[in-house]
Amino acid sequence: MHTRKRTLVTGGAGFLGSHLCERLLAEGHDVICMDNFFTGSKENILHLLPHPNFELLRHDVTFPLYVEIDEIFNLACPASPIHYQYDPVQTTKTSVHGAINMLGLAKRTHAKIMQASTSEVYGDPEMHPQPEGYWGHVNPIGHRSCYDEGKRCAETLFFDYHRQHHLKIKVARIFNTYGPRMHPGDGRVVSNFIVQALKNEPITIYGSGNQTRSFCYVHDMVDGFVRLMNSNDEITGPVNLGNPCEFTISQLAGMVVEMTGSHSEIDYKPLPFDDPKQRQPVIDLAREQLAWEPRVKLAQGLERTIEYFREMLA
Ligand code: NAD
Ligand code: UDP
Ligand code: UDP
Repeated sequence: MHTRKRTLVTGGAGFLGSHLCERLLAEGHDVICMDNFFTGSKENILHLLPHPNFELLRHDVTFPLYVEIDEIFNLACPASPIHYQYDPVQTTKTSVHGAINMLGLAKRTHAKIMQASTSEVYGDPEMHPQPEGYWGHVNPIGHRSCYDEGKRCAETLFFDYHRQHHLKIKVARIFNTYGPRMHPGDGRVVSNFIVQALKNEPITIYGSGNQTRSFCYVHDMVDGFVRLMNSNDEITGPVNLGNPCEFTISQLAGMVVEMTGSHSEIDYKPLPFDDPKQRQPVIDLAREQLAWEPRVKLAQGLERTIEYFREMLA
């Protein structure tokens, strides 16, 4: 049992944040969930509201926040292209001003702080798979740049606050994650395929379906966050967190159709312009430093996610 801590989760009403709040409460910590509800929702945390150690704060991370806390998990940021391209200036502000505010808060309160960074800092990688030492291949002026460069700048700020002000920092580079409470309308492949299959609508495969992704179940990801936060102060990251089991998009479509017993057919659509062909994390660092690796197999995780969407659509 860990000692009881007061923990701030920014973006706590979102997909990953709500599962993280749940896990922290289960460990006996006080949790302040802060969110502006841009992509998150009260439904995601409704079941946590009655918990005596849970507090909900409607607040935008781009504005200063004064609270007394021991730890900060900084997750606030829209994560899917549809959402982060809706107001790209606000996306960059959320990553950059948000990081500055949360780092300032950590500095004043001497809190440990973890940043939810992303595999997108590698951009359209020229190296496969991607270890943490790879600097990436990112377009600074494209439609995805508000997200990619915002997250890269946040990493810079984390390391400068660490060097300049000796903050205890942790940077996680998160790869594709799925599970219950994903947004049904954010265009992600797992949620799209499951919703399409459950409605017996055509499954939209972009391109040939031979491109690959490596999908991590949300509980495994949250476990990685907690292990990273609890690790020695010398461990700052950046550390890749994701599931290295790679699947083609066609394989994923096949699994979803079979597991839902759907009558959906496959509908091939054009591949989006900057769609990476492959994505797979190298997680040697997480294995060595955090003794972490994903446990939930894709079939198991899909089962639970399908169950969630079945109830949602009922
Ligand atoms: P999400 O959209 O469900 O959660 C983000 C949360 O942040 C939402 O609740 C949203 O309302 C909140 N938010 C957005 N802007 C805010 C602001 N200005 N102030 C306060 N709150 C704000 O997405 P998610 O998948 O849970 O992602 C959480 C974090 O993990 C994000 O930082 C994302 O970049 C990162 N990440 C996620 C994935 C993934 O596969 N899900 C992959 C890489 C990185
Ligand atoms: N900040 C905050 N909460 C705090 C302390 C700081 O939100 O408890 C914000 C504040 O907006 C400040 C920013 O964090 O501008 C950076 O703080 P820092 O102390 O690094 O720099 P400052 O701008 O205060 O010199
Ligand atoms: N994709 C697809 N059909 C969909 C949604 C996505 O074939 O309905 C493909 C997409 O082109 C990409 C992969 O699935 O190759 C993963 O897409 P997602 O948006 O989930 O994640 P990301 O591209 O950020 O890894």
